[in-house]
Amino acid sequence: MSLAELSDAVPYWTEDMYPQRGGQDHLGLGSVVTDRILPRLSPGINVLTIHPRYWSFYAFVLSEFWKRDLPRTRAALRAWFRPLECIYSVACSLCNGPNHRGAPIGTRRLSPVVAAKPTGFDPQFHYMDSAMGGYGLYYATVMQTVGLVAPADRRLGVPVDTVTPEGQVVACAFRSVVADTEYYQSWIGRHDEAVPYEVVEEYGQHACFCRLRDPEATDRSILADAFLHLGNEEEARARRMTLRFMCELAAQSAGASIDEPSFRRLIYFGADYGNEDRPAPTFIPTDAVLSTARRWRLYQMREYFNASVNEMWRRLCYWGLKKDGHLIQSAEVSASLHSIDFMSFSADLGVDLPEAGLSAVSSYRELLDWVIEAGAVSGELDDRWDLNADLTEDRIIGWLNYGRGSTASGADRLAAAMTLITFVAARLWRDELALVSPADWFPVVHGGHERLGIQRFLSRLRDRETNGATVWDVAEWLTFDYVISQHERVAMAKLPTTGDTFRFRREANRLRFFPKGAQVGMNNSRFNALATFLFELGWSGYLYDEYHDLTPEGQQLRLDGDLSPTGKFDLEGV
Ligand SMILES: [Zn+2]
Repeated sequence: MSLAELSDAVPYWTEDMYPQRGGQDHLGLGSVVTDRILPRLSPGINVLTIHPRYWSFYAFVLSEFWKRDLPRTRAALRAWFRPLECIYSVACSLCNGPNHRGAPIGTRRLSPVVAAKPTGFDPQFHYMDSAMGGYGLYYATVMQTVGLVAPADRRLGVPVDTVTPEGQVVACAFRSVVADTEYYQSWIGRHDEAVPYEVVEEYGQHACFCRLRDPEATDRSILADAFLHLGNEEEARARRMTLRFMCELAAQSAGASIDEPSFRRLIYFGADYGNEDRPAPTFIPTDAVLSTARRWRLYQMREYFNASVNEMWRRLCYWGLKKDGHLIQSAEVSASLHSIDFMSFSADLGVDLPEAGLSAVSSYRELLDWVIEAGAVSGELDDRWDLNADLTEDRIIGWLNYGRGSTASGADRLAAAMTLITFVAARLWRDELALVSPADWFPVVHGGHERLGIQRFLSRLRDRETNGATVWDVAEWLTFDYVISQHERVAMAKLPTTGDTFRFRREANRLRFFPKGAQVGMNNSRFNALATFLFELGWSGYLYDEYHDLTPEGQQLRLDGDLSPTGKFDLEGV
């Protein structure tokens, strides 16, 4: 499959979630973040499970299926499920509530249908290819995680997915919200007739994901309870801590609109940029959220680490493709690293180099010292890291235009990537930092040997530095051991499933390059999902808006770290 075919085959709304999965995560580094680190930080809330009310809606759909005398088969569930989700998506599209943010699942195909304002909507409209729609693609797994759904298991006599007793509580709450709608009264089971426009519109006014903030939304407090307390104890705790952390961040940044890049700066540097209209927002973790804040900071560090290695890989690909015949001696690859160009990189950024200059023959220590000075790196784990230093990770990412599909292969970009990875090293240079809080250290450790863990990188880099390695020595080591070997290993592993994703391969002592695109980018940080959660669960304003103060309930979660359980899940003996 070509890159173009691959991106065509993925629904557009998954691009965010898997910007570099499948055919794209060419070094397998993104998966360390998406499969290992982020699931520990916010289990059950991922990039595409954005709207909490979908948990209510899907529990309701399953519950309604089991209420009816329908065959307990996948086909029957699918036949029941699809018309309900189709009409729900239309209903949400028609909603014009003041708190409506984002779009329902299936929007791409449904929006022209909705825009045409027909007199009715066909529940059988093919709104999505996925057999079980957004539930099957995104929500089923997380609903199991939170304990609202039990997956089909024939050995247990459960032929299709069903709601757990806890899921039933959520389903009932949603049912009570829509019980009086004409849709629920007369149309929910009629799948072969067009549902009148007004009926769908009225349904949306009660059921839309944005209406969870309405006083009538009895499922809101129950869902909040579920997210804070249900499922595996350790995961529930991690979810609680991250939601509390987000409330703290919302409170401290009130008055400034926050988006994903600002979020990255706030969690990493403890600050964002200001402008003429507003002072720079800051985020200084309180003692209560310090541990969670440390984890998120180290997550972002892994993103910078990945970005530097991915950039070296991307640059190498385009560098190789510019050579005649796309076939290059390994020795020539090594030799080319001598041209690493700190001069034009630093000049572009307006940062002074050390007086002695910086080049391939400089000692690596000189590069490290330059980064420490230009970046005002303190070497402490919990300090504020200076966003306004002459040079920062954020400025390098901006200069690289990272993730924007560059085909540039200049030696200044190699210097940028080397500087970026040196920032990671400089911040964590002292061995003892691992002992500050071992429980928060996992983002540094994850990846190990197979996926280039930071911990492993640091210990090998320290050895090299001690032995007097030059910048070129380190660049060569990273190019061959991290970029080339890793790409070959990952592309080889993908052959049986994804197909040929090789961008280059070693042939004896030569490297053959293949003319295909080489995309890189950061993973979605789940900021959008978490911000939408806070907003739709009624804990804060929308973080993208300047006004996003906490509600009294959000304030309580911020201060106490939890909300009182509703008692609705005390099901024993019921
Ligand atoms: Zn709405």
